[in-house]
Amino acid sequence: MAKIRVGILGATGAVGQRFLQLLENHPHFVVTALAASDRSQGKRYDAACAWRLPGDAPAAVRGMVVRGPEPPLDCDVVFSSLPADVAGPIEAGFARAGYPVISNSASHRMDDQVPLLVPEVNPAHLAVLDACRGGGGAEGRGFIVTNPNCSAVMIALALAPLAARFGVEAVIVTTLQALSGAGYPGVASLDITDNVVPFIANEEDKIERETRKILGRLNGGHVEPASFAVSAQCHRVNVVDGHLAALRVRLGRSAEPAELRETFASFSALPQQLGLHTAPEHPILVRDEPDRPQPRLDRDAGRGMSVTVGRIGRDAVLGHRFVALSHNTIRGAAGAAILNAELLLAKGYLTGRE
Ligand code: NAP
Repeated sequence: MAKIRVGILGATGAVGQRFLQLLENHPHFVVTALAASDRSQGKRYDAACAWRLPGDAPAAVRGMVVRGPEPPLDCDVVFSSLPADVAGPIEAGFARAGYPVISNSASHRMDDQVPLLVPEVNPAHLAVLDACRGGGGAEGRGFIVTNPNCSAVMIALALAPLAARFGVEAVIVTTLQALSGAGYPGVASLDITDNVVPFIANEEDKIERETRKILGRLNGGHVEPASFAVSAQCHRVNVVDGHLAALRVRLGRSAEPAELRETFASFSALPQQLGLHTAPEHPILVRDEPDRPQPRLDRDAGRGMSVTVGRIGRDAVLGHRFVALSHNTIRGAAGAAILNAELLLAKGYLTGRE
């Protein structure tokens, strides 16, 4: 099968660079177009972009000229890692022009006609696309699919098997989030060195809303958010990659910590059954050591796509507690979007453009 040609919007940014790294030698996708701001447009990628990941930028993209983020682009599908304050109309414009848009940005995540997809958790939510396909883009093939906020994705992944087995009634989560989550250059070094900042703009609201949409129920052509309350407090910490979340959960029935452990460890879902290229063998890995998970030691688990869970125990207030960790620019961003694209391809939503 010919590879699907991909354009990256925001290709020079922290998430855009991860896209390029993860798509190098991908069996189904090949990068054929790059777009960024007018700062970068018209330049070769290697001149526009200071590459900040280990190794070099993939050879195939170094000489590509960076374009503006508007159609037409020489590709079948666009992956978007644009800042949320500009992504909304740009992504909608691509969808109207007939491009499937697979986005990391927050702009459209809560739209009724846009799936907020975690392939292990809510693949059924793709049905909202069927309700609107044919109405929007050229040939009916344009649409937008989003992946969640970088913390919401691991929170939803960890809660999903608990919700299925025990029911979830309330969640309190405290996050410790890495610097790369703020993009580049991100937080000023003088603000974060020897420090923790207890504020990340809009993050608490995103976690609270997105988690409930992801774990919501499909009803007709739309998603009804899960009914349980989520309370989030977010902190920026002096770690390069890897978001950590301490969760307290009230379940729908009593359960032993060992049952939670077994529920996490045995969790496997559609991407694993389909053998999707970017799917980790274990969506959730359990660590039993008392001092795990840790960002430096656990963020690359499952090539950055597994969520690591530890410290599973009883909680005096809500009943149960545990700690979750995942790689914010892989499972929390580029890897999540690529896994979404692989599911869309497997389900027949992506084809090459003539
Ligand atoms: P970033 O490092 O600041 O990169 C932003 C990218 O967007 C750059 O390529 C930049 O191009 C481009 N851009 C900025 N303004 C533009 C405009 N007006 N028109 C076209 N392109 C423009 O940010 P990031 O961390 O990669 O985040 C990108 C998106 O992903 C954001 O919406 C963010 O919330 C989301 N996200 C990030 C993470 C994470 O862990 N970092 C996780 C999940 C989701 P130039 O280089 O030319 O300026």
